[in-house]
Amino acid sequence: MTTSRRKFLSAGTAAAVGAGSLGFPMVAKAQQTFNWKMTSAYPKGSPFYMDGPGSATDLAKRIEVMSGGRLKIQVYGAGELIPALEGFDAVRAGTVEMNHANSYFWTGKTFAAQYFCAVPFGLNFQGVNGWFYDGGGINLWHEVYAPFGMVAFPCGNTGVQMTGWFKKEIKSVADFKGLKMRIPGLAGKVYASLGVDVKLLPGGEIFPALERGVIDAAEFVGPFQDRRLGLQKAAKFYHTTGWHEPATVSELLINKAAWDKLPADLKAVVENAAAACNVISEGWCQKTNADAMEDLIKNQGVIAKPLPDAVVKALREATDKVLAEAIAKDPVTKKVHDSYMAYKKKFDSWSGYSESVYHNKILG
Ligand code: CA
Repeated sequence: MTTSRRKFLSAGTAAAVGAGSLGFPMVAKAQQTFNWKMTSAYPKGSPFYMDGPGSATDLAKRIEVMSGGRLKIQVYGAGELIPALEGFDAVRAGTVEMNHANSYFWTGKTFAAQYFCAVPFGLNFQGVNGWFYDGGGINLWHEVYAPFGMVAFPCGNTGVQMTGWFKKEIKSVADFKGLKMRIPGLAGKVYASLGVDVKLLPGGEIFPALERGVIDAAEFVGPFQDRRLGLQKAAKFYHTTGWHEPATVSELLINKAAWDKLPADLKAVVENAAAACNVISEGWCQKTNADAMEDLIKNQGVIAKPLPDAVVKALREATDKVLAEAIAKDPVTKKVHDSYMAYKKKFDSWSGYSESVYHNKILG
């Protein structure tokens, strides 16, 4: 939106408020429209993130339709308006009203943001949604972002991710010593504590680095997204245990001052469109990953295997240590951690009678 357009809209809003005071509040309110900008951490055309069911573009479309055109959102891919990972600062400053990304990109601003995206050995898709919608997770998210003048909602989920691609099979913890692996975030810290030489590379640089042997292993998302990068052409072992990202949440980040200007019905439209995309995007991932995994194994010579139990045990112990250090340093992280883990304890206990039994005994 240009400055003159913004000024025009502000003037229009002031006029509408004036009309309301003269006794035509309903008319004035119905005419009020909002033109917002939403940036993304992912480039234009990225499936799941920018394009397709439950993506940023789909979210904006749903909001526009559900609001009868009163809230229009222009969506920008990474690099179009701002660089990929500057969404937090842009929304905070009010340069854009919304950003679509993952909150674990913001752990440098507030470590607690990690818990609203993916926690190693944490909750799965059902569990994290239980915590968000029923266990106080969204309220805590708002509390953590309050000092930055922002609110956030879950608006997508990849479901369980894959451990990643390895040139050599991981048979024991000793295989981690000196292994050069692309893996971001908290899981990277866990691997580093077990001797992995952690490399931070953006998505587009993973394939050439793996192919040339600059790295020995790489994690990205799951079968559909990984195949799109061609990772199966650079490494054949695909370890499947998604310990590091059991259900990675997409984040709809909103400037609080802009949010507060929306009438209650438009707020409800945004919240409900985000919740719809949260479910719809995860449904899309199930099907596309199933198709891609079948293709990788049947047609592309990929060997898919879970990590050995002893390796998973070592990763779990290392994760506990990394999380203990994080909560000891920061009371905000501790508050979120305690809420998340208390919910997880309940969820795991019930799951032991319900979902886990069904998965283990019925689905196999
Ligand atoms: Ca990942």
